[in-house]
Amino acid sequence: MHTRIMPAMLAALLTLGAGPAAGSSEAQVIRSGPSSCTTIALTFDLCPVREGSGYDAELIQTLIDRKIPATFFMSGRWMAKHEDEVRALQAVPFFELGTHGQAHAHLPLLDADRQRAEIQDAVSLFETRHGQHLALFRPPYGEYDERTVEIVRALGLRFILWSVVSGDPDPSLSRTKMVERLKATVRNGSVIVFHANGKGRHTKDAVEDLYQDLILAKGLQPVTVSTLLNRCATEQDRHVGSPLH
Ligand SMILES: [Zn+2]
Repeated sequence: MHTRIMPAMLAALLTLGAGPAAGSSEAQVIRSGPSSCTTIALTFDLCPVREGSGYDAELIQTLIDRKIPATFFMSGRWMAKHEDEVRALQAVPFFELGTHGQAHAHLPLLDADRQRAEIQDAVSLFETRHGQHLALFRPPYGEYDERTVEIVRALGLRFILWSVVSGDPDPSLSRTKMVERLKATVRNGSVIVFHANGKGRHTKDAVEDLYQDLILAKGLQPVTVSTLLNRCATEQDRHVGSPLH
């Protein structure tokens, strides 16, 4: 969930207007892709849960059926309990995986060594069990400080936040309200944060609505975060997510 704003994050948000200086720690924090491309990234956090299955199977099936590329940020604690689900996600060629900390800790509250362990442990866990190095990292709760940014850089990971909040864990947020808000804020290059751990009551329905209203009707092309950042969608990408394929 991403409802709390810690002082470090607030400071980061307040400085957004001026824009980060090149080479500053803020410049390494990625919130969106280029506005020159008609591409967007749907991202789904897999934070650990105390109750429930922790996996929104209907949402995942919808993404697969619609061939919607998506990026998932998995916490180590979630991975450890969902080995089959991890393999299922890994097997979908248009899904991309990243990590979301080991224990979903509040990083700014930890010293540098513990921050490094919280970030690295989930990466190592995935490498050991699933044989792949995951280069994308999203901090739990979206919270970080300068040490976090430096550690992520030193570990060779890409620091991915978001530019659009779906608000899907909020039980009082209706499908209609969520979709209205998303349609009003999503634009070229947007990175949208959702949850795929079953905490979003309307996540699947909102994705269905966005597919109809933004992807099919307005031609915004969903791509993985790496594709969003590395290049504009090519002709080949445009076939993905198309109703014809
Ligand atoms: Zn989370």
